[in-house]
Amino acid sequence: MKREADWRERFPDDVTCVRCLQVKPIEELDRLLWCDDCQLRARRRAAMRGWISGGILALVLGLYIWLVIQPDLTLIPSAWAATLLVAFYLGARVAREFFYGLDRMTNRRAAEAMPPGPGATRGHDEGR
Ligand SMILES: [Zn+2]
Repeated sequence: MKREADWRERFPDDVTCVRCLQVKPIEELDRLLWCDDCQLRARRRAAMRGWISGGILALVLGLYIWLVIQPDLTLIPSAWAATLLVAFYLGARVAREFFYGLDRMTNRRAAEAMPPGPGATRGHDEGR
């Protein structure tokens, strides 16, 4: 916890989150200067991509089993079903970590920032 305090001491109390560009208290930001909301959003998006990846993996594996291995499904259908389920679940877990890590690593600036609305004029906030 001591080291956490060290890096935070270098910043003022309120810091702009690099993802959504909103000013947040430093306690809500992590080392990459992502606020809690943005971390949550990144996790949700990674989870969604993870489930999709797991689904694709299970589908491909299912096709592979069906077309290449061509098992006699009358014998142990539950074993094959379990194989696909495990592939789906593990694939989703691994892909989720991968996508979240990728998001953290690339650390794209202002990725969560709201684009200015149609009514917004350029330079509107200047001169405050
Ligand atoms: Zn943010």
